[in-house]
Amino acid sequence: MALNIAVLPGDGIGPEIIAQALRVLEVLKNEGLDMTFTEAPLGGQAYDQFGHPYPEFTQEVCRKADAVLLGAVGGPQYDNLDRPLRPERGLLAIRKDLGLFANLRPAVLFPELANASTLKPEVVAGLDIMIVRELTGDVYFGQPRGMRTNEQGVREGFNTMIYSEPEVRRIAHVAFQIAMKRQKKLCSVDKANVLETTEFWKEIVIDVAKEYPEVELSHMYVDNAAMQLIRNPKQFDVMVTGNIFGDILSDEASMLTGSIGMLASASLNESKKGLYEPSHGSAPDIAGKNLANPIATILSVAMMLRYSFDNEAAATRIENAVKKVLAAGYRTGDIYEAGTKKVSCSEMGDQIVAAL
Ligand code: ATP
Ligand code: MG
Repeated sequence: MALNIAVLPGDGIGPEIIAQALRVLEVLKNEGLDMTFTEAPLGGQAYDQFGHPYPEFTQEVCRKADAVLLGAVGGPQYDNLDRPLRPERGLLAIRKDLGLFANLRPAVLFPELANASTLKPEVVAGLDIMIVRELTGDVYFGQPRGMRTNEQGVREGFNTMIYSEPEVRRIAHVAFQIAMKRQKKLCSVDKANVLETTEFWKEIVIDVAKEYPEVELSHMYVDNAAMQLIRNPKQFDVMVTGNIFGDILSDEASMLTGSIGMLASASLNESKKGLYEPSHGSAPDIAGKNLANPIATILSVAMMLRYSFDNEAAATRIENAVKKVLAAGYRTGDIYEAGTKKVSCSEMGDQIVAAL
């Protein structure tokens, strides 16, 4: 049966990086991997076409798909829209609609990019962390939320940080299962000393741990975790945390690996349907200039093959093609250093397709 992939190019550099990712998939398709691609708009692009960042057309395409490949959404031209119409709301809506509660963000340092890291090479050499971020709960979705004038006539903004027991249990299981396939070391990040929501999180994670006696579980407050990621990142193997802490820590971890342009992500639901997108945003400052690094998106395609289609061989092959191109010295602007060969977004695509 054909693998049905929804393709959402989105805004900014989205269409450029998606074009290169599709070339990689075309190679596999030409070799006989049965796939169909259905394009649909999301974010600003969708607002322009349908007046909504996650229109019904896109909802239908994504619900029918086996996996979704997304570029990025957002841009300064949409900043003045009413909040519910903004591109980022499209992203929150698709995550919620497809039940994508588990966000996997690997932070892997490619040896060729050791100098691109913000840290000393010896601190990051061999770095390979998997951050598991809960994606459909926490303060991003908790009700009530909004802005109001209180009884004293003072304006205020408010959000609600909330996690239910089933929400914490299922993300904890995902994290423990990933840890079982790696070094069997899991660090749960919370702020249990101050926030009841995360004290509850910790309690549930400790309970789930009983089912995974082989995994060494540790706990860390988020402020300390932010510090430890910079001080000694290799102490971590798998980290699991809530939506907002995960958002911040995974961006932080990304800089350890050189460029956000290298980092893939997968967002999975309970039936392995996933949305795959680069960790970075739409990079409006370089959009339309053929300058973006397409590797994060291409590595997201590898994650798609691995997690949604159980095709480890194809996933590894794509990752090896990327390594080969980096070893040969090709670099987009974000990872360029003296002595390497600077290439455009599409030229990077050429090289990776050739290496495949
Ligand atoms: P968002 O809110 O969508 O996360 P943002 O403005 O926080 O957007 P990005 O869009 O990720 O963040 O851009 C941050 C910086 O990283 C920008 O300077 C951008 O040019 C750069 N950048 C992001 N992605 C890439 C990429 N694929 N290749 C090269 N540079 C990139
Ligand atoms: Mg950002």
